[in-house]
Amino acid sequence: MAKKVIVNGACGRMGREVVKTILELKDYQLAGVCDLVNTGQNINKYVDCKEEGLIITNDLEGLIQEKKPDIIIDFTTPTAIMDNIKTGLENGVNMIVGTTGITEVDLKIIEDLAIKNKANILIAPNFAVGAVLMMRYAKEAARYLKNVEIIELHHDQKLDSPSGTARKTAELINQNRENYKKNKIAEIESLSGARGADYNGVRIHSIRLPGLIAHQEIIFGAEGQTLTIRHDSYNRSSFMPGIRLALEKIDQISGLVYGLENILD
Ligand code: NAP
Repeated sequence: MAKKVIVNGACGRMGREVVKTILELKDYQLAGVCDLVNTGQNINKYVDCKEEGLIITNDLEGLIQEKKPDIIIDFTTPTAIMDNIKTGLENGVNMIVGTTGITEVDLKIIEDLAIKNKANILIAPNFAVGAVLMMRYAKEAARYLKNVEIIELHHDQKLDSPSGTARKTAELINQNRENYKKNKIAEIESLSGARGADYNGVRIHSIRLPGLIAHQEIIFGAEGQTLTIRHDSYNRSSFMPGIRLALEKIDQISGLVYGLENILD
């Protein structure tokens, strides 16, 4: 029997792409769509599809009670995500979360919620397989090249900065440079923010411009050389293979899994 999926944030840029993807999959049924905007209207007004009867609601809890979904996919906003996760997990529903802005403190709370409610949750700050490889290669490079800065570039409608991918990349890099001591000089930042954000010793620079989708560059520097690792998502379909993989694996994980790399074969 097809698994029932609810898409939360269904009218957003990512949500619409996910709705299209679910409708194409024969093993999954789009059971409901939730968003704060366009409530009471049919999703086929916002996503190019023939589906009738999929009415947008802003009541996630009510939709869960009515549809009894197997999985919720969430692409909403950093401010809404913790409440959404609480609602999903407390109802015992497995969740796939792409929404960013989740902190390390949040992750501990989510892990406890998942265990308590015997539900699984996969959170990935980036569902593009190429981006996962970029992070893996950056972690490997950090074993040999300790000086590194990250530039992340996104469309100008993105709410949070730095990106979840940049945070995650910095965390992975730091796992491989335990004894790193930065060459200390008395830097003068005459304009606040010029050197970017300091995330546990890794500088992150966030660029927001129309025309961009999701891009990241990691620049390692050493005497007489630099190494740049770069990934570009040119459109949101780049995230869909990761979503399909997450759908396949969500029943097999246990509790919280953070990062798509943990379910890649
Ligand atoms: P978006 O276009 O702003 O879409 C978000 C949608 O969610 C909006 O329609 C928004 O409505 C709605 N929403 C907000 N709060 C809600 C709630 N409590 N319940 C239901 N719906 C709610 O944003 P996007 O570009 O699709 O991105 C969504 C999230 O995914 C962001 O955090 C982004 O960084 C992240 N993202 C992740 C990946 C990945 O691979 N993991 C890739 C791309 C983007 P309003 O407009 O009224 O707020």
